[in-house]
Amino acid sequence: MTVSLWQANGDQPVREVDFLVVGAGLVGCAAAYFAAQAGRQVTITEARDVALGASSRNAGFMITGLDTYYHHAAARYGLPVVREMWALSQKTHSYLHEFARKGNVKLDKCGSLLLAESPEEAKELELAARALQADGIDVEFHSSDPLKRGYYAAVGQPWDAAVQPYEMVQTIFRESGAELVSNNEMYAFEQGANGIVTVYTRQIVFQARAVMLCTNAYSPQVDPYFVGKVIPTRAQCIATAPLKNGPVLNTCGYSDYGYMYYRDTFDGRLLIGGGRKQNKPLENDTTDDRITDPVQRVLENYLREKFPDVDAPVERRWAGIMGFSADGLPLVGTLPSQSQVGFAVGFHGHGLAMGVGTAERAVDMLLNGANPGAVAARRME
Ligand SMILES: Cc1cc2nc3c(=O)[nH]c(=O)nc-3n(C[C@H](O)[C@H](O)[C@H](O)COP(=O)(O)OP(=O)(O)OC[C@H]3O[C@@H](n4cnc5c(N)ncnc54)[C@H](O)[C@@H]3O)c2cc1C
Repeated sequence: MTVSLWQANGDQPVREVDFLVVGAGLVGCAAAYFAAQAGRQVTITEARDVALGASSRNAGFMITGLDTYYHHAAARYGLPVVREMWALSQKTHSYLHEFARKGNVKLDKCGSLLLAESPEEAKELELAARALQADGIDVEFHSSDPLKRGYYAAVGQPWDAAVQPYEMVQTIFRESGAELVSNNEMYAFEQGANGIVTVYTRQIVFQARAVMLCTNAYSPQVDPYFVGKVIPTRAQCIATAPLKNGPVLNTCGYSDYGYMYYRDTFDGRLLIGGGRKQNKPLENDTTDDRITDPVQRVLENYLREKFPDVDAPVERRWAGIMGFSADGLPLVGTLPSQSQVGFAVGFHGHGLAMGVGTAERAVDMLLNGANPGAVAARRME
């Protein structure tokens, strides 16, 4: 997104606000909620409208933990970080359950199954299961395919869930009580010597006491600090017409190291996402306004090969942009020399697992100077 001179030239009306959130996705709405809980008057400015980014284009899997197998994550980040992220994810899920109750959001406690597409992956799954169990996490290891669809092994997390993500974000937004200015892209900001941040948007110039950037994949377009730290990455899905014979999975299934994922939807369709592994260069993109043939072909082939019992046509195809962080963990911090401009970005394919808890930490950091722990962006500076 770029803004021309004619669209916004700094002549917009000036408004003082207390706590300004940029981006009304899952994370922005959660940040608004926590800031309001802390007694702040919150305004959100959003380029489009509530939950039109990745937050309502995802598969709706609420899967506890990071998107890397537990033993690999332990080797990469160290066990203390992996345990902390697991706890953050559990806390996030308990918030989502609470919001679901408040907003009557569709949420199915169907559990998840991480499935092996090859004998090699089956060995990795067993190692992941043993590492989880050694940490007191009671996952189920299946040495054969519980779905009887040609997988080689599986790890079950019965406490996981599937959610209607658009309803979830709308609920968090409502619960925040925040004011929303939609269709209002932010195109520049600067913190003055008095600590007030001037934020230029299409409709309004805000003077904000505190600003929280929740712009995830779009962050490199918002400030150069994020270039190389947040990498926009497209993901695509398909959904069939409602199936005549009812659900085929009754779980959130994912496989091939998380590159493929599938679930039944609440209205009886089969949703399949992924197909990026074979098409990585194509999916290094920042637009969710198009799908691509090669990825869609992978998804359709997967549907026909793994689910030959499903004869329903594909009725919906879509794309969304994820914000990968350079090291796989979310990023929370304040911008260099702008102590009142905080951010919570970089949620990979696991924003539902980590977004709300991370937003809580980001707000606590900006308002109270709290240490965000393993998600602190300082690690990359
Ligand atoms: C196809 C797909 C499947 C996925 N599946 C899952 C899943 O099953 N489970 C899971 O946990 N995660 C999944 N994810 C990831 C998850 O959707 C994200 O991690 C999460 O939605 C990130 O939320 P967010 O609020 O940070 O980002 P977003 O929802 O993208 O929100 C960012 C917002 O910022 C706004 N914005 C950007 N720039 C500006 C600006 N300059 N001014 C004003 N507003 C601006 C955007 O318009 C957008 O609304 C998936 C993602 C995709 C794309």
